[in-house]
Order: sequence, then C-alpha cells, then structure tokens
Amino acid sequence: MDFRFSDADEKFRLEFRNWLEANLPNKRRKNPFTIEFFANEDGAEWENRLAWHKKMHAAGWIAIQYPKQYGGRGATITQQYIHDEELIHAGAPQLVNSQGIGLVGPTLMHWGTEEQRRRYLPKMLSANEIWCQGYSEPGSGSDLASLQTRACEDGDYFVVNGQKVWTSDAHHADMCFLLVRTDPTAPKHKGISYLLVDMHSPGITVRPLVQMTGDRGFNEMFFEEVRVPKKNLVGEKNNGWQVALTSLMYERRAADLRPIVHELAALARLVSHHGSNAWDDGGVRQKISDFACEAWAIRYLGLRQLTRQLKGRPPGPESSIQKLAYSELNLRIQKFAMELLGAYSQLAYQAPFAIDDGKWSYRMLAARGMIIGAGTSEIQRSIIGERVLGLPRG
Ligand SMILES: Cc1cc2nc3c(=O)[nH]c(=O)nc-3n(C[C@H](O)[C@H](O)[C@H](O)COP(=O)(O)OP(=O)(O)OC[C@H]3O[C@@H](n4cnc5c(N)ncnc54)[C@H](O)[C@@H]3O)c2cc1C
Repeated sequence: MDFRFSDADEKFRLEFRNWLEANLPNKRRKNPFTIEFFANEDGAEWENRLAWHKKMHAAGWIAIQYPKQYGGRGATITQQYIHDEELIHAGAPQLVNSQGIGLVGPTLMHWGTEEQRRRYLPKMLSANEIWCQGYSEPGSGSDLASLQTRACEDGDYFVVNGQKVWTSDAHHADMCFLLVRTDPTAPKHKGISYLLVDMHSPGITVRPLVQMTGDRGFNEMFFEEVRVPKKNLVGEKNNGWQVALTSLMYERRAADLRPIVHELAALARLVSHHGSNAWDDGGVRQKISDFACEAWAIRYLGLRQLTRQLKGRPPGPESSIQKLAYSELNLRIQKFAMELLGAYSQLAYQAPFAIDDGKWSYRMLAARGMIIGAGTSEIQRSIIGERVLGLPRG
C-alpha cells in the first residue's frame, strides 16, 4: 500500500497551501482556532464565514471537483480530498452552504435533470443561494421513512403541508431539499418524493431553536399550503427515498481530527494536573497518543473511501464507519480536554479568564450534536452490522 500522492497532486497541494497562506484572514493565521463542527451559524460569525466563502469562490477554490460548466474546476477526486485536508490544517474558517455543496449538489449530479443542475449548482457554489435539508420531523428522525409531511398534486404543482425540525441554516436558506410523502397508501419507503423548495414561497414559517452551545443553528419549519412547481421534483415521484439515500451517503464522511489532537497536546502543555504540568504526566501523554492513533486510523478510512471513489463507486454504507468513528472520538477528546481544564472547563466560550478562549467548552457541547446529526451512533452501528458486516437483524 502506497499512501503517497503523485507529484502532480503534491504540486496542487502546494499551490492551494500558498494561496491559503496569502489569503487567510490575519486573525486566523495568528490563532488558527476553528469551531469546526456546527460552527456558529448566526450573527457576525456567519457573516465572516460567508465573506470567506465568497473570497474562496472568487478565486475558484469552492467545490473544485464540480464540472466547470456548473462553476467548479473539474478537479480530480484526489485534488478535492487534498483541498479539504489543506483547509482543515490551515485552520480556515468553515465554509457556508455545506448542505448544498456537500449533499444536494452530488445528488443533483446523480439524479437531477440538466435544467436543475444548470439552474441550481452555480448559485450554490457562489453562496448566492443557501440551502437547508428538510428531512427530520418531530416524530421522524432515526426512522426517517415514517415522515408525515404531505405533498398533494394540483396541476403543475405539489402542495406541501407539514412540519420539519432541527433544520440547520433554515434561517439563512433560500432553498430547501425536502422529503415529502406523496403516496400515503404505499409502504413507508415507497411513497416519498424529493422536492427542491424555494424558502421564500408563501406559507413557510421558520422558527429558531437554540442549541446548548447558545447558537441559533437550527430551526423548526412549518409548511402550510406551499406550492412547489413539479419541475422541482428530483428523480421520480415516490422514489425519493433512493434519492435521499444518495444525500445521506455523502453526509456521513469523516472529519480530520489530527489538528485537534495537536491542539489538545498544546493544552496539556499549558495547564497543570495534580500539581505539575499536565504534559509531564505519562498517563496524559499516553491518552493523547491513543487519540492521535485513532485520528490517523480515521484518516486511513478516508483514504479507503477515496480509493473507492477513484474506482467510480459512491461512498456506500462504509461511510457510516467514518461517521461513527470520528464523532465518537471527537466527543472523547473534548471530554478529556474538560478533565485537563478542571474548574476552567466551566467557563463558556469567550468568557473572561477562559483558557483558550473557552473553545473547549464550546466544542464539548457541540460534540454531543455531532453524534446525533446525520444519524445517531446507534443507527450507524445498525447500518454497519446489517449492511457492511451482513449480520442478521436483531
Ligand atoms: C446539530 C444537529 C443538526 C441537525 N441538522 C439537521 C438538518 O439540517 N436537517 C434535518 O433534517 N435534520 C437535522 N438534524 C436532525 C437529526 O438528523 C436527528 O436528530 C437524528 O436523525 C435523530 O433523530 P431524533 O432526534 O428524532 O431522535 P430519535 O430518532 O427519536 O432517537 C432518540 C434515541 O433513540 C435511539 N434510537 C432510535 N431508533 C433506534 C433504533 N432503531 N435502534 C437503536 N437506537 C435507536 C437514537 O439513537 C437516539 O439515541 C440535526 C441534528 C443535530 C443534532
């Protein structure tokens, strides 16, 4: 097994690294701290992320793997992988529109019409249209196929009624990819359709839900007699479950946790533990090296997924292994940071006297959301058991 990238790919890496070095906001370069996951989706932080996204887009560095006619660079899958790795290692601000570019974009590439791709993809990349994901409902999360939001046909339109919940970024969104029930008499997986809904349509109400981080990241959405043109159906009517699974496979990807392990090591050098510097404690170093090994193993899982895609295959149910591994490891890292911080762990993000600006407390709270969003750990374990290992259903 050769883990090295080709000379051409390394040249590409250097080109992007140099661009990042020259263009990252000054503050980031001095203090490359990222609130990586479920980053603040409101207020000034959102505006900063949006500005950074637009700067990257203007230089042609957004969704580089997308074909040129849709606003990408037509880069290779490997270059996209390297690009994502460099962004994380540079501590760059999180981009916006991940639900669009990461989920609905690849889904449209697979299932959409040419007209849909040309209409939606370029504005998605430029962040001129922000997208949200309307899947979960109050009674349908893990058991998503039980969803009740109804769409009835009326001439050239579907008329949508129902409620969605936990919708990230709905308060910024111009568009939503929405799962609706179009045939209530069919078995639950068979009567679902996948619609692209203009969030400015009459009849949509968005109400904020505040996360325990204090951020207004996600929302409830109410649909009352919302008219959606039939040309906004993706795939065939009542085949939306298959379309939705494509989006979900792209959602369950791994994040690179190696930079956070480095930050943890730096924290251990900063704080004291049982009266001396935490880093001097062999037990602390042992724990951090365990985390580092796991973070590297997750990177190799990512490379395995890359190999799969290079062979022309979609992410597949193995992406559940990555999602489970990184979200659980992230939570354990954050918990250990709380132990190292001791009483300081009680100080919130940006509170006076907080160590490292309180970023660990924020991440600790956000880490809980990560093990739920995109499918809980229990659900990932069931998928791995049944669809990867082929174990009998319990
Ligand atoms: C930060 C965050 C962002 C999110 N963003 C979005 C978004 O943008 N759009 C969207 O549509 N949704 C979003 N969600 C919702 C997310 O997809 C759901 O919360 C998730 O699927 C779980 O559903 P639920 O909350 O209804 O919990 P439930 O399904 O009610 O689960 C409750 C508990 O029961 C367990 N459980 C349920 N079924 C089983 C089973 N069969 N076997 C074993 N255990 C089981 C679960 O693991 C969990 O511990 C987001 C969630 C979070 C936390």
